[in-house]
Amino acid sequence: CGIVGYIGNQQAAPILLDGLGKLEYRGYDSAGIAVYDGNEINMVKSQGRLKVLNELTHDGETLKGTLGIGHTRWATHGIPSDANAHPHFNKDKSIVVVHNGIIENYLKLKKKLLAHGYEFMSETDTEVIAHLLDYYYKGNPLQAITKIMHRMEGSYALGIIFKDHPNELYAVRKDSPLIVGKTDGGNIIASDVPAVLRYTRDVYFIENEEIVKMTETSMEFYNVDEEIIEKDSTHIEWDV
Ligand code: GLU
Repeated sequence: CGIVGYIGNQQAAPILLDGLGKLEYRGYDSAGIAVYDGNEINMVKSQGRLKVLNELTHDGETLKGTLGIGHTRWATHGIPSDANAHPHFNKDKSIVVVHNGIIENYLKLKKKLLAHGYEFMSETDTEVIAHLLDYYYKGNPLQAITKIMHRMEGSYALGIIFKDHPNELYAVRKDSPLIVGKTDGGNIIASDVPAVLRYTRDVYFIENEEIVKMTETSMEFYNVDEEIIEKDSTHIEWDV
């Protein structure tokens, strides 16, 4: 299972596919990417090997845009299938999420969301995250993210895009690994170091309940009270 996200001045899809390839060794049953072209968030996902995703997207050529998230899934809730593969959207496709981990209280959250008229397209615990973000989203991504952090029990590393914030990529984690790095002309997130080593050797290890807000040129870290926190990068010496 793995997560990759990119925002910058390069096409996102090839970077996402390359990064997911570097995380293949961890094992997975499906893969998917979502890329924002400034107009729509377009998604391609499929059960099976990354090769399938590479073929479906012509090595990323068919998904244009410089902001995107990608995922390789190790199914925990819901069988391996195209529908259960990540990313997952909210109802009007204005919020998109990738997730590593397990939301322990997802059934309780799902019941609440169903009662509010939300419809589910998958059997995953992850899809509740997309709808829960939708439920709490009032135009401030950071606020919606901290709201859901208070509601979710379990483990998560998340990459999140909000359609009405086209120049921002968000990430957050608890009990599931997440790192971020600065590249020439952009910023990248990943669940593990090998995915980013091609672009940078200076990475920030995100701690539990820390949130990252990235643009093409900036990177800010927040705690669950939406306060800015300072972090130092770690220089990676080793090779993969
Ligand atoms: N629990 C989620 C699912 O089954 C994420 C699994 C993962 O970490 O890949 O879809």
